Formats: sequence, C-alpha cells, structure tokens
Amino acid sequence: MTSAFANAKKQIDDITSILESEYQDKKKFQKAVKLLKKPDRVIFLSLSLKDDKGKIKKYKAFRSQHNNARGPYKGGIRFHPNVSEDEVKALSTWMSIKCAVAGIPFGGAKGGVVVDPGELSISELQRLSTLYAQKLASNIGPWKDIPAPDVNTGGREMGWMLDAYEKIVGFQAPATFTGKPVELGGSQGRTEATGLGGLYTLENYVRKKEIKKERIEIAIQGFGNVGYWFAKLASAAGYKVVAISDSSGGVYNPKGLDVDKLTKLKNEYGTFLNLPKSGYQSLITNHELLSHPVDILVPAALENTITKDNAKDIKAKTVLEMANGPTTPEAEDILLKKGIDILPDVLCNAGGVTVSYFEWVQNLSGYYWGVVEVNEKLKKIMDKSFSEIYEMKKKKDISFRQSAYTLAVKRIIDAMILRGGA
Ligand code: GLU
Repeated sequence: MTSAFANAKKQIDDITSILESEYQDKKKFQKAVKLLKKPDRVIFLSLSLKDDKGKIKKYKAFRSQHNNARGPYKGGIRFHPNVSEDEVKALSTWMSIKCAVAGIPFGGAKGGVVVDPGELSISELQRLSTLYAQKLASNIGPWKDIPAPDVNTGGREMGWMLDAYEKIVGFQAPATFTGKPVELGGSQGRTEATGLGGLYTLENYVRKKEIKKERIEIAIQGFGNVGYWFAKLASAAGYKVVAISDSSGGVYNPKGLDVDKLTKLKNEYGTFLNLPKSGYQSLITNHELLSHPVDILVPAALENTITKDNAKDIKAKTVLEMANGPTTPEAEDILLKKGIDILPDVLCNAGGVTVSYFEWVQNLSGYYWGVVEVNEKLKKIMDKSFSEIYEMKKKKDISFRQSAYTLAVKRIIDAMILRGGA
C-alpha cells in the first residue's frame, strides 16, 4: 500500500535542493527540513461509543499536529474507514504547506475517526462527535489547534463538537472550530469555499494558457462537498462538465451534465451505479472517468487516486487536484513526462481553509461579513497564490507543485528559524 505520509515527505525532499542556496546556514536549514518531515505530535484516542441498542463499540481516532511555526495548528476532521496514523500525518503536513501557500497565519493539523459514518444513526454520530471533541478538548482552542470539516463531516458535526468543547471550558469559544453552521458563528460562503477556490484557480490557469473556456471539457472524480461545488460552480461559469463519478462509478454526457439534476438522481437512487439507463447519460467506471480524454481532470475524492498503475492511461491535458494528495510522486513523474500540467492540491483546494481563516477572524472580532465580501477576499488570496506560484515556476523552470512547495516550505522554515527553533 502506498504510504501517503511517505509521499508528503518525498514532496518536501523534492524541493530542498532548490531552496538550500537561499540559506547561508545550511545546518539550520537541514535541521528545519528534518523537523518538517515529522509532525510535532500525534494524539491517539479510543472512543467508546454506546450504540442505539446500548452496546459499547470502540473506535480508533487521531489528531496529528504537524507544525505551528506560522500560527495555531489548523485542519479538518475526517470520518472514514481508511483513516490511519499514516494518513493523518500526511494530511497534517499538507495543511501546513497549504496554509503557507495561501499566506494565512496557521500551521497544519488533521484528525480522523476510523468509522464508516453511513453505518451509524444520527444520534450515534452525534455521540461519536461529542466524544471526539471531549477527548481532544485540552489539545485544541482558538490559539492552539482549530479543527474543521473534512471527508464525511460538515457543519452539523462542527456544531456538536463546539457544544461539547464549550461545555468543558465553560465559555463561548466559537473560534475553536471553523466550518460551523452560520447560526453558530460560521462564515457565509464557507460550504462552497473549497469548490469556489478551485474555480478561481481554474480561471487563472485558463487565462494564462489563453484557452477559450467554452471549449474546456472537465471530468470530476468525487461528488462529496468539494466535487459537487466545483462541478456546480464550473458549469455555471461556462465550462462543460462531461463526467462525474462517486465511489460506485460515474456518469457521462458529451453535451455536459446538469449538476442539480444529478444531485436529484443521486438522492433518489443512492449511488451513480444504481442509476437507470437513460438517454441523458451513460454510466462509466471510475477508471473510464480517469482515462477519458478531457481537458481538465479533477480528482476530488481521496489520496492515492492517480498512481503509477493508472497514470499511463490518463489522457487529460491538465490535472487540477481538489482532493488532498490524489497523485502519488511516481504517477506525477509519469504525467509530467507526458507534458501534463498538475495544479497541486495545496493551491487548488486552499479555498476551504482560507474561508476558515475568515471565519476565525470574524469569530475573534465578533463582526460578521456578507458573502460578497467573503468571496472577494477569497479571490484575492487565490489569485495572489496562483500568480506567485506561476511566476516562480517560470523563473526556476520547475513544476507547479515544486513551485508551491518551494514558496511554502520557505515561509515555514523562515518562521521556524526566527523562533530560534531550527
Ligand atoms: N479539510 C479542509 C482541507 O483539507 C479544510 C480545513 C480547514 O478549513 O481547516 O483543506
């Protein structure tokens, strides 16, 4: 099995020779790089959940706090059967890089519970979320570590966790969690922020490449919060989304898919695999979706989706990563050799944590912004990150990922050195 954390470390190693010349004190630089390749701490939890029948079930859970040189630890909480120590370590590393790419004052963290949330009732999910927040309470807080939604969690879980946390500390502390419902201090625009940030990145890329957007065909792997919003917003902006898949399989329509219609169908039939045959769309496998000759392929599900085994079949011109860690380093080598641009996760999906930052700022100041203001501020940050990465890529003749990592690792290491810690 591919280790996501080994991939994250390899991505850091890949740019150290590019960055080293900028540091006079090579020892300090090397020490900082070494520190960056392991999280500051990993918290291991065991959650004893009483199920609806009164039986106790144990669930493993984690929180990896990677680096806080630039600000408090920040990152989501995932509910998924594949959550592991290796996975949260990787995801927390990518959060440190992502926050540095966006230039927002946070470090990186990620948590998760090893559970298939589809097998739990809503009240069981509430108790599990509450238990997780209670056990983690002494390790989180507005200036310590600020969790948020990730795969299979959202505003509902954040509301439950916030309540559990506030009951322990005894005061209101909304800035402890982001991605909350608006009624509990969540930010306008947070739900769609990751998708919208991805669209801003796509628009920046298309502008640089001088391609007409009406001609651009997109295939999206994943139809959770991120895939759904990216598909919806890209279609509304005039791109042609021709294929979308969930974990069961995909749908394809060369004329372009209607995202709202698909959502209705998915709600009715559960998964794409169960959809009836119709003139509107044809059913395709996940592999067919990944290897379809589109302009932009958007992995928007989980890590390790594009591997050395399927990279040779990919015919897209560009990969725009909306999931975290979807392309393994071996696959990346193959794609780059084929001349495929890979717009990296740490840029493309940074919109979510950027609006989380706005939510934290609003909570701390007690002053709330409208959605137009949130989206304008998000666009500014996404545009700036894109142009910084694009310029550095051109100047140094490196890949988009190497460019993003060079910028981000420098920002983190500079902060570590200034603290005297490296
Ligand atoms: N889970 C999201 C990510 O991977 C958002 C994290 C956050 O808002 O803190 O970027």
